[in-house]
Amino acid sequence: MKYISTRSKITPVDSAVAILKGLAPDGGLFVPESIPKIKLDEINKVVDKPYALCAGEVLKRFLTDYTENELFECAELAYNWFDVRAKVPMSILVQDPKNPKFPIGITELWHGPTYAFKDVALQMLPRLMSLALKKTGETKEILILVATSGDTGKAALAGFADVPQTRIMVFYPNGGVSKIQRLQMVTQTGGNVNVTAVNGNFDDTQTGVKNIFNDEKIREQLAASNIKLSSANSINWGRLVPQIVYYFTSYADFIRTKQVKLGEPVNIAVPTGNFGNILAAYYAKRMGLPVKRIICASNANNVLTEFFKTGVYNRNREFHKTISPSMDILISSNLERLLYHESGYTDTVNRFMTQLNETGTYKIDAPLKKKLDKIFHADFATEDETSHMIKEMFSQFKYLVDPHTAVALKVVSNYRRDTRDMTPVVVASTASPFKFTSAVLKALGQTTEGVDDLKQLDTLALVSNWRIPTNLAKLAGAKILHTDVCEKEEMAERVLKFAAN
Ligand SMILES: *Cc1c(COP(=O)(O)O)cnc(C)c1O
Repeated sequence: MKYISTRSKITPVDSAVAILKGLAPDGGLFVPESIPKIKLDEINKVVDKPYALCAGEVLKRFLTDYTENELFECAELAYNWFDVRAKVPMSILVQDPKNPKFPIGITELWHGPTYAFKDVALQMLPRLMSLALKKTGETKEILILVATSGDTGKAALAGFADVPQTRIMVFYPNGGVSKIQRLQMVTQTGGNVNVTAVNGNFDDTQTGVKNIFNDEKIREQLAASNIKLSSANSINWGRLVPQIVYYFTSYADFIRTKQVKLGEPVNIAVPTGNFGNILAAYYAKRMGLPVKRIICASNANNVLTEFFKTGVYNRNREFHKTISPSMDILISSNLERLLYHESGYTDTVNRFMTQLNETGTYKIDAPLKKKLDKIFHADFATEDETSHMIKEMFSQFKYLVDPHTAVALKVVSNYRRDTRDMTPVVVASTASPFKFTSAVLKALGQTTEGVDDLKQLDTLALVSNWRIPTNLAKLAGAKILHTDVCEKEEMAERVLKFAAN
């Protein structure tokens, strides 16, 4: 399987090269030349198998320049920490007593070391990169640059800390992440890590990182210090491909628990920001997973809702800071891959991306819109609706959800009400509720005024009778190691400084 660019005809490359480079040379994203298939009986075979084995089955179809053994070993090491039964991020079924025939499976993807679903990919990516360095004979050091809206940063730091031949530098919007997210990042140990706050919002931060990637002069300067840039953002193919796996295992969970018969379709609902996680669901569908509709759930930054409803992508709008900050995004980078796969033309994608860059907006044509309508449903939840859903889930099921997951649940509930489509649905639960204690406590009617975020962990544990995740309980005593702050214009300078160390 070779990888090509979304924006122009480039020489196809192996997956190892795509993973090391992050972005295609023309500024586009790497996509597989074709989408491999998995047959129903092959899905059936892995219904009872460990997660790592399922991961190997999916990955080997995309990463054909890695051996099956390499991939399986990577997966074993990457996923041996899932602190749940069978090492699998399990689907927890929350059954509506009024509608027992129409289950909602909540797939808890947040049992990794940093308690966001991003661990699933970011525990895998460094291992794929290390192998890619060997495969391509690369001797330079790889510098991973990350722009984070909160969860990617810590998950990437945890994945790359002290990985040989790599360094990692994380930029986050100053004041744009939760206190716990910040603490998780600024207490990160490791000889090859840097964490810097940027005075700006997430889009400023992401644009800053993109500009550094596209700056030939900086690349040359870094090359002189024997350093090559790469990315751990969800634009990296090695970030995306591990995420396809859990849609298969979630489906398998439905089969195993006899909620769904083999071959029967499910819907998948994903709380969406950069369009990475939901794009993985799209790939799973294209590979042959029986998926009827993919439900794109947004918060008040509902640029994707509007896009799927009208065909117009328009980032020229007010930016809202919400209680689901990892979805506070106006440019969903991975949408570009979807546009490529569904339109099939690099020049079309190139035109859209140029328009987006120059005017902040583009409009897809009617045939393309029609194709997307068949696959996706999109909606959003307001702040109040999100809080209300957190409260409702707890009072009805004693089940805690974080605000991102609550957004998806609200959108699912609206979808079922409006369409009467009661297909069983898999909801991607993307973070531990303990990562967003303040929003969760408020939703449950607790005061958080003047209560320190770390104290709130205890309160939430007390109120819910849920256990504080181990690594979050440890934050209180952890030493703050990273205090750098910079203006958005200074990001390149900071990168060069870190590289010169
Ligand atoms: C990153 C993140 C999202 C958004 O995922 P995308 O792949 O960027 O669409 C949703 N919820 C949480 C908790 C996240 O960390």
